[in-house]
Amino acid sequence: MSDTYDVVIVGGGPGGYVAAIRAAQLGLKTAVVEKRGRLGGTCLNVGCIPSKALLQSSHHYEMAEHEFASHGIKAQVSLDLKTMIGRKDKVVEDLTGGIEFLMKKNKIDYVIGEGVITAAGEVTVKPSGKGAKKKVLKTKNIIIATGSESTPLKGVDVDEKQIVTSTGALELGKVPKSMVVIGAGVIGLELGSVWRRLGAEVTVVEFLNVALPGMDGEVSKQMKRLLEKQGIKFKMKTKVTGAKKAKAGVTLTMEASEGGKAEKLKADVVLVAIGRRPYIDGLGLDKVGVEILDRGFVKVDDDFQTNVEGIYAIGDVIGGAMLAHKAEDEGVVCAEIMAGQTGHIDYGSIPGIVYTHPEVASVGKTEEQLKEAGVKYKSGKFPFSANSRARCNADADGFVKILADTETDRVLGCHIIGPQGGDLIQEVVNVMEFGGSAEDIARICHGHPGLPEAVKEAALSVDGRAIHI
Ligand code: FAD
Ligand code: NAD
Repeated sequence: MSDTYDVVIVGGGPGGYVAAIRAAQLGLKTAVVEKRGRLGGTCLNVGCIPSKALLQSSHHYEMAEHEFASHGIKAQVSLDLKTMIGRKDKVVEDLTGGIEFLMKKNKIDYVIGEGVITAAGEVTVKPSGKGAKKKVLKTKNIIIATGSESTPLKGVDVDEKQIVTSTGALELGKVPKSMVVIGAGVIGLELGSVWRRLGAEVTVVEFLNVALPGMDGEVSKQMKRLLEKQGIKFKMKTKVTGAKKAKAGVTLTMEASEGGKAEKLKADVVLVAIGRRPYIDGLGLDKVGVEILDRGFVKVDDDFQTNVEGIYAIGDVIGGAMLAHKAEDEGVVCAEIMAGQTGHIDYGSIPGIVYTHPEVASVGKTEEQLKEAGVKYKSGKFPFSANSRARCNADADGFVKILADTETDRVLGCHIIGPQGGDLIQEVVNVMEFGGSAEDIARICHGHPGLPEAVKEAALSVDGRAIHI
């Protein structure tokens, strides 16, 4: 069977399915090929969505167990993990089903199976299931949106039961007594928080001497302290060199990052969360001559074109911030460029959010980056302990920090630890996109009592004139 398309997209994650919708809106005949059997990619199936569903449920559990009493609410609390996991699965099912509906609504062909690029202008789909026939899709353009996978760690073999990636950590059948998380990055701290709240003793082993490396230094330090206060233990500057499984648990061998005496650590479950790597297995890129960068990312130019005409790539597979919203925006712009329009992404104002409690949110430059670049900046900071809404909510850990250019007052970065930090950062993202200043934020009326007032106060503080501190 043969079909001719304007664009065939391989991979139905946030990059792929959003590119498909935008291409269809622009009148392009579009197909999306996905082998998972469900649309939404890593994000909806085993990433953003299930992790946030469990973070929310486990937060409720922790509140009920430890915080309700101070509000005068007496409750007897017990955990029904099966229901919690089931609710998470239902959220995933509903949202992925919603994407399938959007494909139909936009008249996009959703082809289930593994896509192989057999030539420029040709994608062959190997459907799963016995006896299913190959399908050849002829097309003017192809977008590679095959995403990423968990980076493996030598000597620590994942079985998704005792030694898990994030995927297994979203599916544990019971709360482990102890869990070791390898990597103090975003996944490690989010999923470590989930299982700590549900009762596991969590130890995070990190190669470097900072948690959340790459984030503003003050934020990384304070967040680690807050997580320690919540009961997570950290073993910094340590590398895991091997793992031995037994029925009763896993024994890890570790040593100092720079080398040293080996030590052992036992845990019921080990979560490997040392980063993600691009996924291009079986895609046939070598045969069609698509250039691949050193670490396996697909090389693209500013218009998301690979070196082979008519083959584009977007999302995690091309590198940069491995975030769903970055993949989505690239999908939109790529489709627009393909349709003859111009598109643009400001990579300097993509927010990054860690959904721990409190949340960590960041956009633009960190203090460390500004210092290194020799940029003169002013810093304004405001703690949530002085924000009335945060005090009403008994949720007042953290601060908002705004960094602005000394001469022009233009906002260069914002770093938040705090309740709803991930929502609060968006105000600053918008101001940065419009080239706005700290003064602009400071002059905008903010509703009272509200958490966004902490952002306004941090902006006022850039000029040394915060009101409530
Ligand atoms: P993916 O979502 O990985 O989608 C690629 C799809 O391509 C997959 O479904 C795969 O099955 C399919 N595919 C691959 N090869 C083929 C082939 N040959 N044929 C057919 N189909 C193929 N990001 C955020 O912004 N916020 C978050 O809160 C967040 N939380 C996360 C939590 C976890 C636990 C993880 C693992 C990730 C999280 N991320 C989060 C990152 C986010 O999931 C990714 O950045 C995003 O999914 C990337 O989108 P993508 O479309 O590039 O690739
Ligand atoms: P990460 O890059 O955030 O963190 C990995 C951590 O592991 C780093 O701190 C690193 O120093 C450490 N590490 C690396 N090798 C190690 C080793 N051998 N031993 C000990 N520590 C080691 O990666 P991640 O947490 O796996 O997440 C992967 C990607 O998924 C990230 O790029 C992230 O953007 C995305 N993600 C985003 C969200 C979100 O936006 N809320 C949530 C989850 C995942």
